[in-house]
Amino acid sequence: MMGWQLLVGAVVMAGCVTDKPSQVDKTNNWAEQRSRMVRTQIQARGIRSKLVLDALGSVPRHEFVPQSVRDSAYADSPLPIGEAQTISQPYIVALMSELLQVEPGGKVLEIGTGSGYQAAILAAMGVEVYSMEIVTGLCERAQETFDRLKIELIHVQCGDGYRGWPEEAPFDGVIVTAAPDKIPEPLLKQLAIGGRMVIPVGPFNQDLKVITRTKDGFEEESIIPVRFVPMTGEIEKQ
Ligand code: SAH
Repeated sequence: MMGWQLLVGAVVMAGCVTDKPSQVDKTNNWAEQRSRMVRTQIQARGIRSKLVLDALGSVPRHEFVPQSVRDSAYADSPLPIGEAQTISQPYIVALMSELLQVEPGGKVLEIGTGSGYQAAILAAMGVEVYSMEIVTGLCERAQETFDRLKIELIHVQCGDGYRGWPEEAPFDGVIVTAAPDKIPEPLLKQLAIGGRMVIPVGPFNQDLKVITRTKDGFEEESIIPVRFVPMTGEIEKQ
């Protein structure tokens, strides 16, 4: 935690001393940083899905983070996005996207839009995304980012995602990017048969789980330990 705070401090200071390079230099630099990120952080850790690798290689992550941390947009870490929330580390975004196993043309429900980056990755994979965000400021900012970048496959709803988006169910995948202590029932019900939910579960140190809906019920698998911000709202009263 301490290390992370120091990193952010260092980045902000670096932003003060480096005077703005020209727009062209910056743009070239971003593409280069992005392909290095895909090679060293994503492929090197075993992500093989071409759909996922291409998406991480094309979506401009720096457009989703606040100006103050933009220079670290492609670093191997989560970053603050305001309102005490974070955008996940690129590898975690890639891993969760791969675990969903969705095809282009599929339909995914995301709980926790945050910056909108994870949703944009899924959209770049050709997936239609229904994304819900409980913090109004973040929700509105994410919608502005999608409009600015002309990303059309994402539908955003501002509000508590605990009850999901029943009007659009069933979903081929459900991705939850905030951690509840236990899996919200209404979200399980909105999975199609054969669909997968990718969700961090637990109070502080969490397990990243994949729940697959079968004809007869649900199968659960634990993937790796992770740390996400807690899911808030109605879940806290359960
Ligand atoms: N997927 C995001 C990262 C999200 S961080 C990205 O790519 O940037 C988790 C987000 O979940 C936060 O923005 C938080 O406000 C939101 N969140 C927490 N509880 C929620 C709930 N009940 N419904 C919807 N969003 C929730």
